[in-house]
Amino acid sequence: MNRKYRAEKLFTGHEFLGEDWVLITNEVGKIIDTVPIHEAGESVVYYPGTLLPGFINAHCHLELSHLKGVIPRHTGLVDFLMGVLQHRNTDSLVIQEAIEKAEKEMILNGIVAVGDICNQTDTLLQKQKGRLKYHNFIETNAVLPAMAEKRFNNALEVYHQFSHTPYRNSIVPHAPYSVSSELFSMITSLPGNKRLCMHNQETQAENELFRTGKGDFQRLYDALGIQHSFGNLPVNSSLQQVLPHFKPESSLMLVHNLATHDDDIEWLLKKRPLEECETSFCICAGANLYISNQLPNIPMLSDSGIPLVIGTDSLASNDELNIYHELEIIHERFPAIPWEKLFKWATLNGAIALGMDNQLGSFDKGKTPGVVQVWGGKANRII
Ligand SMILES: [Zn+2]
Repeated sequence: MNRKYRAEKLFTGHEFLGEDWVLITNEVGKIIDTVPIHEAGESVVYYPGTLLPGFINAHCHLELSHLKGVIPRHTGLVDFLMGVLQHRNTDSLVIQEAIEKAEKEMILNGIVAVGDICNQTDTLLQKQKGRLKYHNFIETNAVLPAMAEKRFNNALEVYHQFSHTPYRNSIVPHAPYSVSSELFSMITSLPGNKRLCMHNQETQAENELFRTGKGDFQRLYDALGIQHSFGNLPVNSSLQQVLPHFKPESSLMLVHNLATHDDDIEWLLKKRPLEECETSFCICAGANLYISNQLPNIPMLSDSGIPLVIGTDSLASNDELNIYHELEIIHERFPAIPWEKLFKWATLNGAIALGMDNQLGSFDKGKTPGVVQVWGGKANRII
């Protein structure tokens, strides 16, 4: 039997419809139609608040869930990264329990799909249960060119293991400051490896490293005993240096963008024109506040025309995995951004960025995107 839903506001993935519209799904949530109330017939159930498609968490690291509360707030990126390296390896039972709990939290908060960064196979068992949809971004890094092949082969091994899940996977570079040109080439030359993401300009120090070879990142390389060759490059930023590695036919999600400026956007739009290339900016507001107590210039990123998507990042740098609360953080700091935009970033745009918009992200006929109620400061899944 079909189910019929009405709410104060219905957000379709594209726009808001008012109280006089009714969403109709079949018994498992497949969208039949959205119709005016006088065409809906009987048995329409009314929900206070807003109904919208299931949220897409475009950037998470489920495998770091056991680090919740371990690394202090506001350390800045370099100390945060050193904290992750120091604490990430622990008892595998602790890791597995934290992964299961974190996934459950996402489901309860109305998240239906996740772009999940994987450095190893810790999340494999949980993902095989099929409770949430994932695109697995198998992440690799190696600053030294001599290490590129070994690290890439490790990533390939993880990639092959994830091919036994029902999800799509790709191998992605960690960040401009942790991946050599040699490793970039291996990643982007892998056949079929087209859905890419990268941590981008998470701190001003990243741009400084590429311009001068100096700055806060030096502490990280010193701690790792790495002699890097960044610096004195004829570019203004890390993004401008590494962008040519990405082929125009690959989709590219840039994550964080805290130190992304006007000239980076100009450069990006020139190298990857909107009508030819699929690019997105992923905003992880909660994690940015946790690590560096700063937010990116979200209005500027939004005005660029490049689609925005929303991620929670991991529990190492966030108190919860809750996309609705990420939107509340953005709304509080940038109240001029309308909710219609925010909801689109967290639903349809995220689904497109993960290549899942044929099923998720909007109430278009034939999709099964999940139906989420936002009411009283909370989001929860209706179907
Ligand atoms: Zn991340």
